[in-house]
Amino acid sequence: MSTGELQIEGLRAGIPGREILRGVSLTVRSGEVHAVMGPNGSGKSTLAHVLMGRPGYEILDGSVTLDGIDLLALPTWQRARAGLFLAMQHPIEVPGVSLVTSLTAARPTIPADEIAADGVDIGERLRAEAGRIGFDERFLDRPLNVDLSGGERKRNETLQLGVLRPRFAILDEIDSGLDIDALGDVGSRVQEATTEWGLGVLAITHFRRLLDVLHPDVVHVLSDGRVVATGESELAEIVDRTGYAAYG
Ligand code: ADP
Ligand code: MG
Repeated sequence: MSTGELQIEGLRAGIPGREILRGVSLTVRSGEVHAVMGPNGSGKSTLAHVLMGRPGYEILDGSVTLDGIDLLALPTWQRARAGLFLAMQHPIEVPGVSLVTSLTAARPTIPADEIAADGVDIGERLRAEAGRIGFDERFLDRPLNVDLSGGERKRNETLQLGVLRPRFAILDEIDSGLDIDALGDVGSRVQEATTEWGLGVLAITHFRRLLDVLHPDVVHVLSDGRVVATGESELAEIVDRTGYAAYG
C-alpha cells in the first residue's frame, strides 16, 4: 500500500509574459481524493500540465514535491517514474501505436518491487482492467485513441491508470464526454484504486456529477489561478447550486 504525499506550495506559473497560476498550495496524501473545481480559464489544465512538466510553461515561484522529491527539477518521464500520472483533458491520437505498446513502454513506471512480487503481465492487467470498466477488448489492439469517441478516450485513460497503478493521478476532466453509465464505471474504478493501492487523486472537474461516484475528501475552488475556497464534499454541492460567480 502506497503512503506519501504530493505537495504543491505557493506555485506560480504561466506562459511567457502571462502568469496563469498565481500561488497554488495544496497537499494530496496517499488514498485521498482532492477535487479541483473552477470555471473555464481558471487555470485547471495549466495546473495539470505544470505538474506533469508539459513544455511551454514557466515556473515563477513555489515548489512541487512527491515524498520530498523535487518534481519541478525532473523531466516528465522521471516524474512518471516517481509515481505521477496524468489523464489528459484531451487525450491525443497516436497512429501506429497500440495501447499495449504504449503501456509496455511505460512499464518502467511500475515500481520494481511490484514487478518482482507478481511479475506484472501488462496484457493480463489490461484485459482485467478493461473488464472492470466495461471497455470493449476490440479497442485494445487498435492505434491509441484513433477514431475513438471522447468517452472511449476517457475510458482509455482510466485503463492506463489501472494497469500502471501510479501513486498519484491528476485527472483533467475525466468526466467530460462520458455518459452516466461510463461515468459510474470510471468514477468507481478510480475510487477503488484509492483503497486497492493507496492512489492519491487530484480530480479536476467542472461538475459535481463525477463527485457523486468519486467521493472527494477535500474540494478546492480555483478562480483566476488561485485557490479561493477549500472545504469538504458539501463545497462541491454549493458550487454546483450557486455557480462560481461568488468565488471571483
Ligand atoms: P481551465 O483548464 O481551467 O479551463 P486553462 O489552464 O486551460 O484553464 O487556461 C487558463 C488560461 O490560460 C486561459 O485563459 C488559457 O487561454 C490560457 N492558457 C493556458 N495555456 C496556454 C498556452 N499554452 N498558451 C496560451 N494561453 C494559454
Ligand atoms: Mg481545462
